[in-house]
Amino acid sequence: MSFIDRKSIDNFKPMLADYLMIKHNININQPFTCLNPDHEDRHPSMSYYAKGNICNCFSCGTHYDIFDLIGLDYGVESFKEKLEIADKLYPNISEIVFKKFDVVEADNNVIDFTNYFQKCISKINKTDYLNERKINPELLKKYNVGYDEKREMVVFPINKNCYFARSVTGDGKIKSKGTSYLWNENLINSDNKLIYITESIIDSLSLETIDSDVKTVALNGLPNYKRLLKIVEENKYNGTFVLAFDNDKTGAMYQDIVKEELEKLKVSSFSLTLISGTGVKDLNEALIKNKDSLMKNYKYVNDNLKIIISKREEERNSEIEL
Ligand SMILES: [Zn+2]
Repeated sequence: MSFIDRKSIDNFKPMLADYLMIKHNININQPFTCLNPDHEDRHPSMSYYAKGNICNCFSCGTHYDIFDLIGLDYGVESFKEKLEIADKLYPNISEIVFKKFDVVEADNNVIDFTNYFQKCISKINKTDYLNERKINPELLKKYNVGYDEKREMVVFPINKNCYFARSVTGDGKIKSKGTSYLWNENLINSDNKLIYITESIIDSLSLETIDSDVKTVALNGLPNYKRLLKIVEENKYNGTFVLAFDNDKTGAMYQDIVKEELEKLKVSSFSLTLISGTGVKDLNEALIKNKDSLMKNYKYVNDNLKIIISKREEERNSEIEL
C-alpha cells in the first residue's frame, strides 16, 4: 500500500460488521459483551450500529469503529499502523464498490417472513422481470420467488427469516436484516462433489436454467464469501467449487481471494469464466444474449471437471488401498 486517500479510509469503515463477525465471532444482530478491556461486562452491553459503522456500549459509553478495534486487537496505536493492518485484512478496498443494502426491518429482531412470502408469491405474475431475464419459470415455483408490488421488487426467499430482493425498476437491492445466508447454502455437503459459486441469485438461476441438475450457490454480494468459508468449515466440505463470478475486475480479484482462502481449508476450486468475450458481464447477460454459447461453454467445462474429479477420487481411493 503506497497511498490511501480519505475515501479509501471511509471504505474500510463498513467492514466493521465483517470484522466483528469473523474476527470476534460475534452475532451483530444482538448485544454482545463489551469489547473495552477495562469494562468487565457481565451482561452483553455492546451493540453494532450499521448506520454509523460503530459499536457502542450503553453501559460504559465506549464506542469503537473498525480502526479502534484493530488498534486493540493488534496492539498498535498509530493510525498509520492500523491502516496498514486494515489494508492487509481487506486488500484492494478502494476497488471494491460497496452496494449499500437498505435495511427495512427492525434491529435485533428475527422476523418470520412466511406470510410476506405467501403474499409475494401470489403476485409473481405481476412482473415480467425474470421472464425478460430468460429464467426458467419452473424455478420461480421451485424457489417460491415472489413479487412485492408496493416496493416493486422481486423477492427471493432464502429461508423463513431471510430474503433477498431486487428492484425491477432500478439497481436497488435489499437483504433482510440478520445473517447473510447464501442462496442454496444447504447444497454445500458431501453429496455434492461439484458446486458452482456465483455472485448473484439471478446468475445461479441462469445456470439452473441451462442445466436443471447443476448445484449452484450464490454469495449475494462478493464480500459475503466469508459466509461460504464458514459453511465449508462447519460442514467439512471436501468437494470442488467453480468460482463463476462476473467477468470484470472485481470478480477476478475475488476469485483470487476466495481461491486462496479455500486452499487454506484444503478445498479445491477452479476460477473459470463460462462467458466468452463479447463484453458480456455476467451469467445472466450471457443467457439473454447468447444462450447457445453459454450452454456450450458450460457443457465443456462441466464435462471436463467431472472427469478431473472422478480421476482424483480414483487416485485417492487407490492411495487408501495401498
Ligand atoms: Zn462497556
